[in-house]
Amino acid sequence: MALSDEPVNSAGVDVAANLAGVQAFIAAAAQSAGRGEGDAALVAVSKTQGAADILPVIQAGQRLFGENRVQEAQGKWPALKAANPDLRLHLIGPLQTNKVKDAVALFDVIETVDRPKLARALAREMEKQDRRLDCFIQVNTGEEEQKAGVWPEDADAFIALARDELGLSVRGLMCIPPVEEECSLHFALLREIAQRNGLDGLSMGMSADYEVAIQFGATLVRVGTAIFGARKPYP
Ligand SMILES: *Cc1c(COP(=O)(O)O)cnc(C)c1O
Repeated sequence: MALSDEPVNSAGVDVAANLAGVQAFIAAAAQSAGRGEGDAALVAVSKTQGAADILPVIQAGQRLFGENRVQEAQGKWPALKAANPDLRLHLIGPLQTNKVKDAVALFDVIETVDRPKLARALAREMEKQDRRLDCFIQVNTGEEEQKAGVWPEDADAFIALARDELGLSVRGLMCIPPVEEECSLHFALLREIAQRNGLDGLSMGMSADYEVAIQFGATLVRVGTAIFGARKPYP
């Protein structure tokens, strides 16, 4: 694997400039929403990007990254994390229970806890590996059949199960609004569910809508294409 010191990636995208632009945008959005500059952290979503294209983003100072497939992440992150021990890796895609062991070993934050079977498997595995990962509960705010996430009406009970009964380190909630709907309604709903459950973390907002998400209180925005450029197709 040839890793270069260039700020551009293999597609010629200046990822360092993109990263700086996104960070400036986040700071401006936080300020205009009357929030502190560091209140919304950037998770750089590196799915489909190879290690050589991720490295310039690390070198530009980015420390939080998101991947949505366990197996894909296993192919590139162990070496990147070994070389950069302060990186934190978030799982932002659906997690199958047969991948829980690998996910707990590799990731630092699981943003997609969304069903009792998974929550129980995570609690067991974290105990076994003695690794307590921060967790977010994914809420299917759009009530889309094909999408992951606990339904809004079931969220309170599920949060209680994950946090209070199973002892997971639940930091907040995560959502992916339906593409064709007004995102602010979904961000507001997620914030309301978090508030009534005493949770501070809100992972919401992607390349197209992170400014709105910050207005609605996002503490984590997950941005991919605005940093890395167009995604590569999965093999
Ligand atoms: C891919 C992905 C993102 C980033 O999407 P962009 O539009 O590229 O910013 C954010 N969140 C999740 C869950 C994703 O799968």
